[in-house]
Amino acid sequence: MRIDVVTIFPEYLQALDVSLIGKARREGLLDIRIHDLRDHTSDRHRTVDDTPYGGGAGMVMKPEPWALALEAIAASAADADDASGARPVLLVPTPSGTLFRQSVAQELAGADHLVVACGRYEGIDERLFEWAADLFEVRLVSLGDYVLNGGEVAALAMIEAVGRLVPGVVGNPESLVEESHSDGLLEYPVYTKPSSWRDRDVPEILLSGDHGRIAAWRHDQQLARTRSRRPDLLPPESVESTETAGPTT
Ligand code: SAM
Repeated sequence: MRIDVVTIFPEYLQALDVSLIGKARREGLLDIRIHDLRDHTSDRHRTVDDTPYGGGAGMVMKPEPWALALEAIAASAADADDASGARPVLLVPTPSGTLFRQSVAQELAGADHLVVACGRYEGIDERLFEWAADLFEVRLVSLGDYVLNGGEVAALAMIEAVGRLVPGVVGNPESLVEESHSDGLLEYPVYTKPSSWRDRDVPEILLSGDHGRIAAWRHDQQLARTRSRRPDLLPPESVESTETAGPTT
């Protein structure tokens, strides 16, 4: 998979050299290219922002440097993308986007080419997204209901969430199967050695060797944890019936 990231802070993306994503880059599983938006400006100050029309606080990113940067990426990718017939996906991190969930990461893991546009200031001139739809499948996505200073942290999170689903990036693919959000539930609690630690014991059942009972216990734990911490992930009927029935242990 190829991933291009456009930012005014290329150094922010150095974390992509580390750990499993860094290894996947070195092994050629992920072709990640970082671009400095300011390379697509033409003035002495390498300006990427200007004051907002209509007034208000803050600055807005100018569309032209973005268009030039995205055109250059689209042109460099044209041959490869033509082969698959698919347009690259342009991911635009923004708190006003749709929620980036595990299901979105799973969907994007099947793409050949992602481009991430890291906004700063009050965001990017809105006209860019309409323009970009000719070259890309544009998706405005939010990491969550809070506001960051820029899109770089969101890009790192999204690239890691998508990248680890690309075959070969995580050594043991089974470890991706039972994770939180893979089946709509949170993961069960996990424990390691020693079996007794500071007067706290690992649940007896995990030492039993009875795989059927362990699987059933883990599923119960997933449900109980999801009901208590994230009832919004469950269908309303299931949460109501639990409230009547009392907590699952
Ligand atoms: N004025 C914007 C608003 O209220 O929607 C917030 C702009 S924010 C200060 C600057 C940049 O940070 C955004 O353009 C986006 O790239 C990034 N950002 C901030 N919060 C984010 C979030 N929850 N998810 C994804 N990106 C976010």
